Amino acid sequence: MYCPDCRAEYREGIETCPDCEVRLVVELPPVDPDADLVPVFETADVSLLPVVESVLDSARIPYLVQGEEALSVLPVGRWGAGISQSGRGLAATIRVEKGRAEEAEELLRPLAEGESPPEPEEG
Ligand SMILES: [Zn+2]
Repeated sequence: MYCPDCRAEYREGIETCPDCEVRLVVELPPVDPDADLVPVFETADVSLLPVVESVLDSARIPYLVQGEEALSVLPVGRWGAGISQSGRGLAATIRVEKGRAEEAEELLRPLAEGESPPEPEEG
């Protein structure tokens, strides 16, 4: 079961998302590739990607990883991988929906500056 709002996954038997107070759905609707996604993190360092993903996962921010073909072996976010045919300079771009971009940028700022990520808050 998934929350259509924050897209968090819940186990069977739970009917509403405690965070958003909306009814859970069995399957998330497919994501429109033209949806309002904004890049919040760009890196040429592939080893940073799993860290970025875990930070966004902890914050329950849905994200899309866009990168070169060589990166397609990496684990991807809930939305799956968008493989760019034209990516040259940067190894990967992380995109989130517009409404969460500010939050994501805030969380990822220490990573972009080469520091360790903030501890995710419980709950
Ligand atoms: Zn929710």
